[in-house]
Amino acid sequence: MYRYYKQFYPADLLFKWLAHGNDERHARAEKTYPSRREFCFVLDKEQEEGGGEIFARYQSFVDAKDFKTNVERKKPARIEFGPICNRRPSDRHTVELKPEERELVFDIDMTDYDDVRTCCKEAGICGKCWPLMTVALKVLDVGLREDFGFKHLLWVYSGRRGIHCWISDERARKLSDEARSAVAEYFAVVKGEGQGRRVLSSTPMHPSVKRAYDGVLKQYWIESYLPTQRILEDKTKLEQLLNLIPDENIREDLASEFATSSLNSVDRWGVIERRVQDSLKKNNYKLTGALEKIILWHIYPRVDIEVSRHMNHLLKGPFCVHPKTGRVCVPMDPATADSFNPELVPTVVDLDSGAQTLDGAIKTFNDTFWNACARENIERLTAKTRQAKAEQQSGMEF
Ligand SMILES: [Zn+2]
Repeated sequence: MYRYYKQFYPADLLFKWLAHGNDERHARAEKTYPSRREFCFVLDKEQEEGGGEIFARYQSFVDAKDFKTNVERKKPARIEFGPICNRRPSDRHTVELKPEERELVFDIDMTDYDDVRTCCKEAGICGKCWPLMTVALKVLDVGLREDFGFKHLLWVYSGRRGIHCWISDERARKLSDEARSAVAEYFAVVKGEGQGRRVLSSTPMHPSVKRAYDGVLKQYWIESYLPTQRILEDKTKLEQLLNLIPDENIREDLASEFATSSLNSVDRWGVIERRVQDSLKKNNYKLTGALEKIILWHIYPRVDIEVSRHMNHLLKGPFCVHPKTGRVCVPMDPATADSFNPELVPTVVDLDSGAQTLDGAIKTFNDTFWNACARENIERLTAKTRQAKAEQQSGMEF
């Protein structure tokens, strides 16, 4: 791990991103900006000290070289990124430290899907359940771009069982905590836990939910989710699904029918659909939207909104190594998310032995995210210069 951070960790690239153009030799760059970012180094305690982790917060660095030197010297097991503060975080003993801006982040974790997986649980992932993450990525990616107009989204595999999104548009970075909560809540269509989990979608569906349903969820449900997870052949999960049908008679009929049935999950879903649709034709209005809600309940993205709410929430940065799996948190290309296989992500051992490189991961970072972001940083600085000149000129005219 230590060798990874010394030899492979792209400290320069990451620091450059986090400076958002303010590390440029440009008259309009905010020179103090890069050094006002809080970093947290998570350090492994020595075994003789009882093991465990130490969170060294309020680290800050003047430039990429300073960052790199400290990473090599302090040998963190993990590096988390916090907000840009009003002052250098290291000055916190003399001034009140306030977060001023921060990328808007999203965190989706497979453990929140345990009640809809039959293949794995907790930290386990496999080819059968991983597509739940891909589906979440697709739904959020479109929503964040089309409904909020964000352009600079960096998607990252967390190294073990989830995904993160870092939204780096200037507008996103400057959002207040209240606005962050509002954006996160927009995607909180399914809320609560276990038996208390509820779908908050209305009928007819909100256009954003409908787009997710028609564009991603419906097809995934039939073609992939039901055949691989086979939840309707699993007693507990079948019961859980039937409980979502708001009609007791239909629920009981289906339960007794399936108790002795040898149908697979896809065919059982067909039976449920027909029963609900027949009843709807007989004006059983309480079933309106019930089928769609069942699908949303199971597979609509389950976002951990607490992570998104606060500017000063620390989140593990891209290109860290997950201590349990040894896998690097690599960027993901939303356009090819379907073919992303977490089991093929380079580990520190692969990198160390030369069996794999980070070239592909860095290319994805650049191509899907950073190149456009960096271009906009320069344009923003140029625009500031233009504006300042215009103001100066109009001042002279008077
Ligand atoms: Zn699995």
